[in-house]
Amino acid sequence: RQTIIIVGAGQAGAQLAASLRQEGYVGDVVLYGDEPGLPYQRPPLSKTYMKEGNPDRLLLRGESFFEDNDIELHSGTKIASIDRPAKKVVLENGSRRRYDHLVLATGATNRTLPIPGIDLDGVLELRTLAHAEDIRGRIAEARQVAIIGGGFIGLEFAAMARGLGAEVAVFEMGDRVMARAVAPETSAYFEDFHRSIGVDLHLQTGVSEIIDAGDGKVGGLILSDGRRVEADLVLVAAGVVASDGLGREAGLPVENGIIVDDVLQTADPSISAIGDCAAFTHPLGEGRMRIESVQNATDQARTVAARLAKGHSDDGHPPYSGFPWFWSDQADRKLQIAGLTAGADERVVRHNERGGFLVHCFRDGRYIGLETVNAPGDHLMARRLLAAGIELDRATLEEADFDLKSFKD
Ligand code: FAD
Repeated sequence: RQTIIIVGAGQAGAQLAASLRQEGYVGDVVLYGDEPGLPYQRPPLSKTYMKEGNPDRLLLRGESFFEDNDIELHSGTKIASIDRPAKKVVLENGSRRRYDHLVLATGATNRTLPIPGIDLDGVLELRTLAHAEDIRGRIAEARQVAIIGGGFIGLEFAAMARGLGAEVAVFEMGDRVMARAVAPETSAYFEDFHRSIGVDLHLQTGVSEIIDAGDGKVGGLILSDGRRVEADLVLVAAGVVASDGLGREAGLPVENGIIVDDVLQTADPSISAIGDCAAFTHPLGEGRMRIESVQNATDQARTVAARLAKGHSDDGHPPYSGFPWFWSDQADRKLQIAGLTAGADERVVRHNERGGFLVHCFRDGRYIGLETVNAPGDHLMARRLLAAGIELDRATLEEADFDLKSFKD
């Protein structure tokens, strides 16, 4: 009997285990996760979870799913290393387990900041359910919330904390929010929106120190321009780094993620990597990248499951080509991205008659994607067109009465 071991019981790992069974894989499926409890979804943690606080609603599958599908789930169990010559994983307690194929789905961890005061009580991060619980226990009492980083998670949290009545300030080093992922027009839209709901947004402003209120608790921040601001809760949301240490220590090539080929296999044919921890080349992108999204984690898991269920040593597996899409909810604004829009060199901004905001993105004259706010129909249509390889041209988009939802190819 063959054994597939999956390290990381998050979005990608849990999906892979489920998909292996759906694909008819009959060997052992062993899923190790270092977090306690059942695998859960992270997106609500920075959105609805702070208000609702119902962890059961986050679960990716119910408890019986793993038993019913003969998936051996080991929660609260960290894999310490990989013994590649013996094809074994080594647990923290020293015990070892043999694999025929190993899949690394270890995700990412939050970047920390090398600044004084980062360890003070009240300086928090958000990646796990445990982090969210910690924040939930404190946010009701917090009067002044400071968020370091104007990316998706920082801004979602800002909108949520405003909704709970806190004073909220965001400090972003770059000259616009979400700069790595969205067009300047989309950044500007959200900068206006956050200011309109009372978020005190500071661009081109770093944080050089977190101040001790005197009792080991956070009291405020010193900004890069020397100003001091008060805060009694600080969220560090300065991006993530791939959890690629296991791969690196096992001698696999790693560069901002565990490097995989077009079928998501590492340099070792017995090891694959998926989700936030994997660095891969997407046919729609430029060069090697990591994508931190539910879509990417899910689709990569499905692709690897199909390959492994068929017998991974066979050649001729189709390359990974999952069409990238993403969402971020900030108060009542739903940002959706279809395609890899970050490399756009030309953009067309439109508003639909339903109050939605759209940024069509082109690179080298080709349509590469659409960013929308509160325009789910347009997002879905763009996804369908782009995934089918149908080109939209600028002239059509600029027609005054053009509506993406009525587009017929
Ligand atoms: P993860 O889900 O992070 O799972 C990896 C797991 O592996 C973790 O549990 C980790 O502890 C475990 N692990 C690591 N090392 C080991 C080890 N050595 N042994 C055992 N276990 C180990 N994406 C969207 O598309 N839309 C959103 O709106 C969105 N919102 C988000 C909001 C928040 C607050 C966060 C944190 C993320 C959000 N994301 C969103 C991103 C999305 O959740 C991730 O891209 C996705 O979870 C990646 O799945 P993964 O399985 O690769 O990693």
